[in-house]
Amino acid sequence: RFITFEGIDGAGKSTQIAAAVAWIAAKGLQVVQTREPGGTPLAEKLRELALHDAMHLETEALVMFAARREHLAVKIEPALAAGQWVVSDRFSDATYAYQVGGRGLPAAKFETLEAWVHPKRQPDLTFLFDLAPEIAAARVAANRSESDRFEREQADFFGRVRNAYLERARQCASRFHVLDATRSPEAIYDEMLKVLAERFFT
Ligand code: C5P
Repeated sequence: RFITFEGIDGAGKSTQIAAAVAWIAAKGLQVVQTREPGGTPLAEKLRELALHDAMHLETEALVMFAARREHLAVKIEPALAAGQWVVSDRFSDATYAYQVGGRGLPAAKFETLEAWVHPKRQPDLTFLFDLAPEIAAARVAANRSESDRFEREQADFFGRVRNAYLERARQCASRFHVLDATRSPEAIYDEMLKVLAERFFT
């Protein structure tokens, strides 16, 4: 099974990813936790470039998909083929949200790259942590010591990213589950586990 977590910066994904991975592992299943951009040594180098060096928007989209190609080849596909579960902090929906929704990359270019890099693979389940950008920004400011160039973006940018995520959730409704990320971590955890149990263990 391939499960992804999405949402704007400050939505609270990290805590819940760790909890989901622990819950799956406690079932006696082998689970690989990973993230994008990144997940392999080369893809992590590409992450550093993408997050800290200003670049043309299409270069940015290509770097994201280059990292993803490597991540799929080296880590995701081998794990799935071996029957392991893969839990990833972000995947292609993030490129749709940030590069298409946030920055204005034409959707057709995203679709071309997606069809090239993973024509058949999509997550079995995607949790979207949804909340207003203003609330997320306050959380990021309170919790992070270092910031990358994306976190310094304005609220209207994150508003566009959020809307693109929600649009994608409507387009791919069967694999998406939207979580109201303004609630307490405990409430989110309970809903997340309920969804995991219903989808995969009934
Ligand atoms: O989720 P994480 O904090 O690891 O994401 C790293 C940064 O990369 C975030 O600031 C996110 O906004 C940005 N990002 C992006 N485009 C993507 C994926 C992540 O701008 N496709």
